[in-house]
Amino acid sequence: MFRRSKLEMRVVIFAPVGRDATLLAETLEMIEAESVVATDPGCILPMLSEGAGCAIIADEALTPPLLRELREWLALQPPWSDLPFIVLTASGIPTRENFNRAQEAGHLGNFTLIERPLRPETIQSAVRAALRARMRQYEIRSRQEALLQANADLEQFAYSASHDLREPLRNIGIYSELLDRKYGDQLDEKGQEFLSAIRSSADRMNSLLSDLLSYAHASSFPEEAVHPVDANSPLKAALDNLNAAIRESDADIFVDELPAVKVHESHLSQVFQNLIGNSIKYRSDNERLRIRVSAQRTDAHWTFSVSDNGIGIPPAYKETVFGIFKRLHSNKKYSGTGMGLAICQRIVERYRGRIWVESEPGQGSVFFFTIAA
Ligand code: ADP
Repeated sequence: MFRRSKLEMRVVIFAPVGRDATLLAETLEMIEAESVVATDPGCILPMLSEGAGCAIIADEALTPPLLRELREWLALQPPWSDLPFIVLTASGIPTRENFNRAQEAGHLGNFTLIERPLRPETIQSAVRAALRARMRQYEIRSRQEALLQANADLEQFAYSASHDLREPLRNIGIYSELLDRKYGDQLDEKGQEFLSAIRSSADRMNSLLSDLLSYAHASSFPEEAVHPVDANSPLKAALDNLNAAIRESDADIFVDELPAVKVHESHLSQVFQNLIGNSIKYRSDNERLRIRVSAQRTDAHWTFSVSDNGIGIPPAYKETVFGIFKRLHSNKKYSGTGMGLAICQRIVERYRGRIWVESEPGQGSVFFFTIAA
């Protein structure tokens, strides 16, 4: 019936009293669903860990210690997993004890109650639905694995590209330096101009490669639990790094109360630094630069904002600016690689957040990004 491996789609049955387990196994055989019967509570978790499409448990066997063990096991499962449980309840009018058990079964998350005496069609349709749902979960797992692989490939590519391209680039730098030192006085004005064009192109290529590497790095941090960090601390690190530019631009920076969020400090700092750095770079000539950093709680996440009264962005480019190497200006007017916002987007999305901008030319810009609360 199902094309996954036997272990991944098997039904783990735990119904130690009476003939339920045997009847269930026979009923499932009719729809060609593989099943395995646990004979005591101690073997349920090893069986589930080995692989299961769903579990059928009789409610009288769902004792508080077993329920606790199952909950602890479920908490350790990867985010894609939501193992379906089918809980067999007693027939007739529910007693308080039955009612309490059914309530507690709710802690299993994805569960369905089925009343006894069992009808084969009812059990078969419930198991079919559970296995279909489980199959979807395996599909999500496969897609996540493919995505992780694509990220790893991109990072590997960025490493090799930057490593392999940097070497000839370094040589261009060294030889143009030598050329200047040894033969500089023999070059006329045009020759000097050409030489300086070679050097600034090599510098630019170097910046592009570094930013490409930062972009690849931005998505490659491990999945381990992240502890909450007070957002003021990464903001301070960003402002320290931008100290010279802030002073030179005479910017007024206002910071509202910021929360603690579960993000690696260096990532949040990088996002703040890129956004505030842009506010400084793309400031207006007509008024003193004002930047405000705020955060608002909305449902399950915090929405941070960095606003400025700079030159603004035409509405048609509100999405384009987040693309790799995408810029709205020539390098002569404003220096940059076009990677700053792409890096911010990659970091924010890695934490399952979103980043966007609201802006009008001449009216300043507000960059928003969300982080789970
Ligand atoms: P870079 O600054 O290196 O060009 P970014 O990815 O940081 O690259 O930004 C992409 C483009 O978005 C910039 O070239 C600029 O045109 C526009 N931009 C970003 N931030 C602002 C801002 N605060 N105000 C106006 N334009 C901005």
